[in-house]
Amino acid sequence: MDQKDEQIVQKLKERIQQIDWEFSDLDTGSVLTVGDGIALVRGLRGVQSNELVRFEDDTFGLALNLEENQVGVILLGGDENIRENDLVYRTGEVAQVPVGDELLGRVVNPLGEPIDARGEINATEERYVEREAPGVMARKSVHQPLYTGVKLVDAMIPIGKGQRELIIGDRQTGKTSIAINAILNQQDQNVKCVYVAIGQKSSTVVEVQETLERYGALDYTVIVNSPADDSAALQYIAPYAGTAIGEYWMDQGEDVLIIYDDLSKHAVAYRTISLLLKRPSGREAYPGDVFYLHSRMLERSGKLNEENGGGSMTALPIVETQLGDISAYIPTNVISITDGQLFLDTEDFQGGRRPAIDSGLSVSRVGSDAQTDAMKDVSGSLRLDLAQYDEMQSFAQFSSDIDEETQAVIDHGRRLTELLKQPAQQVISHELVILSIYLSKYGWLDKLEVDEVRPFERYMHEAFQENHQDLLADIAEDYELTDDLKERIDAVMQELYDEFKVMQNG
Ligand code: ATP
Ligand code: MG
Repeated sequence: MDQKDEQIVQKLKERIQQIDWEFSDLDTGSVLTVGDGIALVRGLRGVQSNELVRFEDDTFGLALNLEENQVGVILLGGDENIRENDLVYRTGEVAQVPVGDELLGRVVNPLGEPIDARGEINATEERYVEREAPGVMARKSVHQPLYTGVKLVDAMIPIGKGQRELIIGDRQTGKTSIAINAILNQQDQNVKCVYVAIGQKSSTVVEVQETLERYGALDYTVIVNSPADDSAALQYIAPYAGTAIGEYWMDQGEDVLIIYDDLSKHAVAYRTISLLLKRPSGREAYPGDVFYLHSRMLERSGKLNEENGGGSMTALPIVETQLGDISAYIPTNVISITDGQLFLDTEDFQGGRRPAIDSGLSVSRVGSDAQTDAMKDVSGSLRLDLAQYDEMQSFAQFSSDIDEETQAVIDHGRRLTELLKQPAQQVISHELVILSIYLSKYGWLDKLEVDEVRPFERYMHEAFQENHQDLLADIAEDYELTDDLKERIDAVMQELYDEFKVMQNG
């Protein structure tokens, strides 16, 4: 053979090797390119979508894009040690996380590995990170309350077990605080909590952990943390991992509360991945399936019927807006997937009206079925009172003489606004919320000066807790506020009011 022939033979050999490679290696592949947390892999022809693959250096990745000639893999670890032509192996497994009570009190990464320096987690069970949501037939409508301990929410925008209620607002408007309150308020309620932190600063998550610990709430909570410096891939799977952890308890017939803080950052992680995988992008450069991404996650929350154990998972996803724009792509998506939203108003927050829940824009589409009769009784006119106040107040700014009726609405509104203020991390029990709102409904509020409202409320709460536990117990039951019960409450209120006034003047 001359040199030319030799070259041809060599080329042919290479080709044959390649063909051989492509057809025989269903379970292995080789790296074509790697960078930015993404590897494109040739081979792996048998791989399933979302399957875990292992690289030569023992880094794992998730096969996300299955194309004809290559597989797009998102890396769950760093890409420093992965080189072109490195081998990649199928594992046959879809991503899983450990689940079970062993996770309570722990902080884990999206793979379920502990990151809190408290040793190993010896969980006996694992769950797939992705799972199909329970079907309609396995579900029941929302009918039990899940109290957040936030007056305004429990009275006006009540949340039921299995509900998905969005918390939405600009940055630094108290979104996380409301979610944390909801966790704190599950003390002794037999509700397990999962807090999923996506793309946050590590220091913020440490703060959350410390708060939960301080109030003894970490004992019934798992924190799944994928901070901002994690790969986009890990941030992407974090909420699914958290969901799988919660689902385990829901399937045991237990009640679960899951917080996703927040889905805006999750969407950004997914957008990054999609752009790197060169998927076509749509509105605001997000890939078209970002809606499906969040809906299939939130669908997994709900209330199961008795045949399926009766468990529930209540979801509080958080979304951050820019300048209050709820018509941006991700906010509108998540609003349409959830059963209502708590909208936080920046101006109110900065003006000291905290929690800054906008009573006009916030709704709960299913939770009122779960409200007790007593709560319904006292809170019935709340929304109207606040709406009238807002309207009259802006009207009063432009007119000098205000009629008596308008003035009364404004006076009441100012006191009511004061009453609805509540510090962060201070949860209030259901029956005390009823008593607070009772002040507004049954005329007591209007007897107080604006600056007396909160001191009196505190005084009243303490007095009821110390001296009128029987009455509190009656209110806590699903009792209606009968005339008899109201008389008993009013008698105590009168007593407390007189004492309070003496103290104020003395
Ligand atoms: P980010 O956009 O940074 O995630 P966020 O919307 O989650 O912020 P938080 O972190 O909950 O907001 O609250 C911001 C700050 O406001 C915190 O310092 C918190 O303690 C304070 N804060 C939140 N709620 C209240 C409240 N009801 N009363 C007083 N202070 C509050
Ligand atoms: Mg926050």
